[in-house]
Amino acid sequence: MEVSLNLEKFEEFISQYPIFEYRIIKTNEIETEERVRIICEKECVRYNSTWACPPAVGTLEECEERIHSYPHAVFFSSVAEVSDVLNLEETLSTRLAHEELTTAVSDYLRSQGYETFTLSTESCDICIECAYKQGRPCVHPDRMHPCLESHGVVVSQIVEAQQMEFQLGGNTILWFSMVLFR
Ligand code: SF4
Repeated sequence: MEVSLNLEKFEEFISQYPIFEYRIIKTNEIETEERVRIICEKECVRYNSTWACPPAVGTLEECEERIHSYPHAVFFSSVAEVSDVLNLEETLSTRLAHEELTTAVSDYLRSQGYETFTLSTESCDICIECAYKQGRPCVHPDRMHPCLESHGVVVSQIVEAQQMEFQLGGNTILWFSMVLFR
């Protein structure tokens, strides 16, 4: 299916933002893998603690179906510089700017009449304590961004297929997001 997005207008919009690289991709080329979510389960403290993480986001099959229900996506990266990449606190603090950028891309697509679904970095931390922990529904379902990994997306595979940079070395970090649209 051909993308209906006005690419010239989108390019004009996106050039205002510090996006490092972006691609418009077809989502039927995206495969999901359970091994990614096994890392969530084994290594992430937020597993089973937010609506933006597995298992709350659904089974791998449900996640893949959700991704494929949006024919296209804007997949992009932004770059952040820190004084020391090993300083986790400093590194994570740069994520917020990337999330704002991600929201801006989604808002733009919505303003053009598209329905969007966003996958980005880490898990949602809009609320001080996620309502998931109290067994209540998500407070901001329209604003929360599950992470790419929660849906079993192998970011490095997309990066390689799209001939993008995965890392730049030194004290730089590349953050990735994907805004799906239909
Ligand atoms: S918006 Fe609040 S309730 Fe919803 S996933 Fe994020 S932290 Fe949890």
